[in-house]
Amino acid sequence: MAISSEDRYSRQVLFSAIGAEGQRRLGESRVAIVGCGATGSSVVSLLARAGVGHLRIIDRDYVEPSNLQRQLLFDQADAADSLPKAIAAARKITSFNPEIAVESRVSDLAPGNVEELLEGAQLVLDGTDNFETRYLINDFAVSKNIPWIYAAAVASYGVTMNVLPGETACLACIFPDSPRGTFETCDTAGILNSAAASIAAVEATEALKLLVGDRASLRRTLLSFDLWRNDHAEITAGKPRADCRACGQRDFIHLKGEGRPHITLCGRNSVQIHERQRPVDFAEMQARLAPHGVVRCNDFVLKFWKDPYEMTLFPDGRAIIKGTTDTAIARSLYARFVGS
Ligand SMILES: [Zn+2]
Repeated sequence: MAISSEDRYSRQVLFSAIGAEGQRRLGESRVAIVGCGATGSSVVSLLARAGVGHLRIIDRDYVEPSNLQRQLLFDQADAADSLPKAIAAARKITSFNPEIAVESRVSDLAPGNVEELLEGAQLVLDGTDNFETRYLINDFAVSKNIPWIYAAAVASYGVTMNVLPGETACLACIFPDSPRGTFETCDTAGILNSAAASIAAVEATEALKLLVGDRASLRRTLLSFDLWRNDHAEITAGKPRADCRACGQRDFIHLKGEGRPHITLCGRNSVQIHERQRPVDFAEMQARLAPHGVVRCNDFVLKFWKDPYEMTLFPDGRAIIKGTTDTAIARSLYARFVGS
């Protein structure tokens, strides 16, 4: 059934702050979403339904059964197939709005590829679950003068801030150092789907204001709330900090990749190995691994079970090894079965 754009967006066009002209601007907009988990899949779903014309979804992970509670774009078949989230999300978007151009990038945003992955985006949205990637987005966005929106959710708590380079505070103005290690994560404190959906709704609304050109209506605070405790707070973030490393001194340490490890913990009892590009031929690898355990693959991922570990290999050689947080064990499994 063909659906006309007039019909599809009629209720949104009636909203006077958007109107026909705003809708036209949305259709021409280009947005990159980094991370397509709970927050990312909600925000990208809202923007796709709202008619943002070009969406680029960047995600390094694949769909798992424990995602279905909160990651609104995925279904059981995606988890059964271990589909990369970027691929599953694009398919789902096409099923409800084929007018949108969606690009999937199954990739880990890193200093070496940030330029290529975020190129052409007029707005970058945070759907990640870690500060390392957020600082990288912040450095990139501030250096290129591209707005981005920070958003995070854990337990019943959500936090978000618009970063308009040169106009408002950036992430490094507010958090000069990574709060890593002190923050709870979804893997330790759990998460309510409603907390992620709420913060995604705020993020999507701010994105719409920006894309239709209504900058005066953009929020200029760090907003946080706890849905369970009925708390909310706003911290003024309307001005850059003069001595800020990123937007003041323009010292983009995260863009240079200083101190970035080749192996990272993804949380949830797993380790990611991304030290080098190693294109993998899945058919050949499947034959090589079959004598050592259970192997299954589709066009996007190869999974290998070797008790008590589960290795997920991507075509570029990146791997996520589940069943350990010991990087030495993960590295040795990778060296033994994929190559050193
Ligand atoms: Zn700053």
